[in-house]
Amino acid sequence: MTWKRSHDIADVSIGMEGKEVSLGGWIEDVRVMGKVTFATLRDHTGMAQAVAKGDAAGGVAGAGRQSAVGITGTIQGTRARGLEYEVLVSSIEVLGRAEHPLPVDPIGRQGSNIDTRLDHRALDMRNQRTAAIFRIRHRALQYARRHLDSARYTEITTPKIIGSASEGGADLFSMDYFGKSAYLAQSPQLYKEQMTLGLGRVFEIASFYRAEKSHTGRHLSEFTSVDIEGAFMDCGDVMAELESLVRGMITHVAGSCAAELGELGTGLRDPGPFERLTYKDCVRELRGMGEDVEEGGDLLDSHLRVLGGAHPGYYFITGWPTDLKPFYIMGSEADPAVSESFDLQHGHLELSSGGTRIHRREDLAGRLAAKGLDPAQFGPHLESFGWGMPPHSGWGLGLDRLVAVLAGLDNVREAVLYPRDPDRLTP
Ligand code: ATP
Ligand code: MG
Repeated sequence: MTWKRSHDIADVSIGMEGKEVSLGGWIEDVRVMGKVTFATLRDHTGMAQAVAKGDAAGGVAGAGRQSAVGITGTIQGTRARGLEYEVLVSSIEVLGRAEHPLPVDPIGRQGSNIDTRLDHRALDMRNQRTAAIFRIRHRALQYARRHLDSARYTEITTPKIIGSASEGGADLFSMDYFGKSAYLAQSPQLYKEQMTLGLGRVFEIASFYRAEKSHTGRHLSEFTSVDIEGAFMDCGDVMAELESLVRGMITHVAGSCAAELGELGTGLRDPGPFERLTYKDCVRELRGMGEDVEEGGDLLDSHLRVLGGAHPGYYFITGWPTDLKPFYIMGSEADPAVSESFDLQHGHLELSSGGTRIHRREDLAGRLAAKGLDPAQFGPHLESFGWGMPPHSGWGLGLDRLVAVLAGLDNVREAVLYPRDPDRLTP
């Protein structure tokens, strides 16, 4: 017999009473009650109760929890609480047997630590709590694409194999490229800036790579970034875009993932307008709380933890010292030592960095040299600045970190299918 699926569980209802259906799914639970066997079947859309008697009862009981099965049966009413129908099984076929003992318990009754779950990620995904995270991630991405499309950005895909560092700095993975050195891109920065001179407004959602030996709950070697760059936009314009995108994502996830948020024991609502602090405000506030902060120095993780304690929600930090920011960030007209830049924070966690970019070639070449970078290495990039480069601004938003915040998770690894970090390269 060749079994063939007829319906998703979500499309079956008591209105189909007496009809035959064929459902594909995994057996989540089996209860043998004398001559009758009950099983809970789960597919990608929901759960159904199957009831089997006679020969079929043995088949259902023998299929084994978590096996992939095809069930054919008739829809009938049920007395089970909370359910409106059940499937009276006429036949069951085991399509993929689950071999016990399984390395993690997909029902989550027996908790496993995060490393064990990540080592067996595909099975962990059958845990509804884990699946909820990735459905939330899907909805967040879906909203980001819709939002940026309606704001007239064009989605682009830039190279991930590059010939030289795009941002300077040492945190690049290198590899052999037909006898030459190549690197994995740490961001789409230079390409997205160049694309503004042809496409005007662009965005990219892609993986980028950082060879930092960080062992934190927020750093990965491979992460997903949502990047935008817009011609004739300034720092304030792209901050407003980021704020409306993030608030829209929150509202969209809240509206489309009520069950998933419930599964995770968390909730979401529009946080309202984001607070805006300047770098100087932060230094003053931190000193007021007894922190030792050097004016002009970077805010350390310990500082951000204190600041995040006082500002637990979403807030911008603007006006960073130009010296602390990458070479392509513009100094302000009023005070070139203060940059046209921002970070978006959620509590102590940095979610995004952005700002106005330098668009004059001489200025950019000067900044490269001042940062100790070799302008010759940036030849093709600098050349494009002579082709009518518009003033432009943009940001990069860490999707994994944002999803972790939306889903109420402490560790960014929970929001990534197969995270890569200095200790984790497989599976
Ligand atoms: P951090 O200071 O937290 O290491 P960063 O300032 O080096 O971050 P940016 O270069 O500003 O990071 O990248 C933009 C955004 O991309 C960050 O705000 C963050 O959300 C995300 N991001 C950067 N590096 C990582 C990483 N290693 N793992 C996960 N997300 C990252
Ligand atoms: Mg940053």
